Amino acid sequence: MSNIVYLNGQFMPAAQATIPVLDRGFLFGDGVYEVLPVYSGRPFALAQHLARLQRSLDAIDIANPLSAGQWDEILNQLVTQNCAGQDAAIYLQITRGVMQKRDHVYPHDMQPTLLVMCNAVQFPAQSRDTPGIRVITQEDTRWRDCYIKSLNLLPNVLLKQYAVEHDADETILIRDGLAIEGAASNLFIVKDDVIRTPPQQHNMLGGITREVILDLCQRHKVIAREIEITEDELHDADEIWMTSSTREISPVTVLNQHKVGNGEVGPKWHQVIDLYQAFKQDVMRGGNDAM
Ligand code: PMP
Repeated sequence: MSNIVYLNGQFMPAAQATIPVLDRGFLFGDGVYEVLPVYSGRPFALAQHLARLQRSLDAIDIANPLSAGQWDEILNQLVTQNCAGQDAAIYLQITRGVMQKRDHVYPHDMQPTLLVMCNAVQFPAQSRDTPGIRVITQEDTRWRDCYIKSLNLLPNVLLKQYAVEHDADETILIRDGLAIEGAASNLFIVKDDVIRTPPQQHNMLGGITREVILDLCQRHKVIAREIEITEDELHDADEIWMTSSTREISPVTVLNQHKVGNGEVGPKWHQVIDLYQAFKQDVMRGGNDAM
């Protein structure tokens, strides 16, 4: 796979792509980003990712530098150059741009910095005999506006690192006694055959995978509720799943070193992963990802 990136209007080898040190993304984390899965060379749920990007940009007062059509064209060109027909992940980020000197205050006429990259990804096999992942809980130390997909990921980085250093794959974040989401994923539980996920509020990221799962459940008449999950309910769940664009739907079999349910991947996960994989196949075959 070649490594061509798109930076401020030009395609170039990653090794030649450089950013000035006075870029506000570098100095303040002043910017937003997106990650999109690419299946067999096709960006997945593009409209939903562009809508979330717009929400993030609006929240931090940066004008979108491209139209939906321009985004579509650039992403497709980048995929063609790097990973035509393959599975990959697109990373894009927009910062407020480059300053004359370091200053918290920004003028309104800045030229945003735009970077897009595309890397090969091995999506999880999600086979029927997957062993599931291990998760751990920690207090949510992030700010309140987690619905913005901000470049400021230091708490997420530290919380995810905590998981890895404590024999786990992901950390579930607890705020005021409620389980909110993972350090880099959304949270679903199953209790008594009902799927539950916390409602979209400012304190969590509105995951696109989460959105796709809720839409699929609605279409296929699988009961799924957007409702808060207490820490006690998390510990009492029959199933727990973590969802994200690159991990899709990961079933959790161990929470804080205790088995989830009977310690096996649960039946609801099997039902929903089948719906998700079928939807992906549909998108890959027909280019039909309109939910
Ligand atoms: N929450 C957080 C904090 C995340 O970083 C991610 C991954 N970007 C998600 C949820 C899942 O979002 P998506 O399904 O859009 O990848």
